[in-house]
Amino acid sequence: MKLKAEKIGLSLEIEDQLLNNMTENGKIYYPNEFGGFLFGYYTNNNKHLIITDSVLPIKFKSSRYNFERSTEGIEDQLYKFHRESPSKFYIGEWHTHPDSNAIASIADILAMRSIISTPNSCIKNPVLLIIGDSKSKVKFSFYVLYNYNLYKYE
Ligand SMILES: [Zn+2]
Repeated sequence: MKLKAEKIGLSLEIEDQLLNNMTENGKIYYPNEFGGFLFGYYTNNNKHLIITDSVLPIKFKSSRYNFERSTEGIEDQLYKFHRESPSKFYIGEWHTHPDSNAIASIADILAMRSIISTPNSCIKNPVLLIIGDSKSKVKFSFYVLYNYNLYKYE
C-alpha cells in the first residue's frame, strides 16, 4: 500500500503482509482494541516513509473504545531495530477500532500530541495507523502529526 499526505508533501508505503499481521494480532483481542509500535525509515529527504515492522506491547490497558500501551518489558525490543539497522527507528503507533470506522478520535489525537511532548522523544511527526475492523471489511487509515495537526494519508 502506498499513500500520500498531499498538503504537507509526505508519503508512505507498507507491505500488505505487515498490515495483515497487525490485523490478525488485533483480532485476538476482539472486541477490545489492541495495537503496538511501528518502525521504519525515511528516504527522499525525510519525505517518504517506509514502514517495515511492528512491535507488540506486553503491558497494555484496553477496552472496547480505548487502548493504552506501555513500553514496560519490551525496552530491548524497541531498540533492536535501530541496533540492527541504524536508519530504522520508532516512527509511530497503531491500534484497532473493532467493529468501527478507522477515524482518529479526540483521544487518539491527544495521544499523538503527548508523544511529541514527551521528554527524550526523538520523533517530530509520529504516524498513527488505525485498523477499522468490521466483520465485512477491514479499513486502514494512516495519519501523521505535523505541526500539532493530524493529517490523513490518502
Ligand atoms: Zn483510536
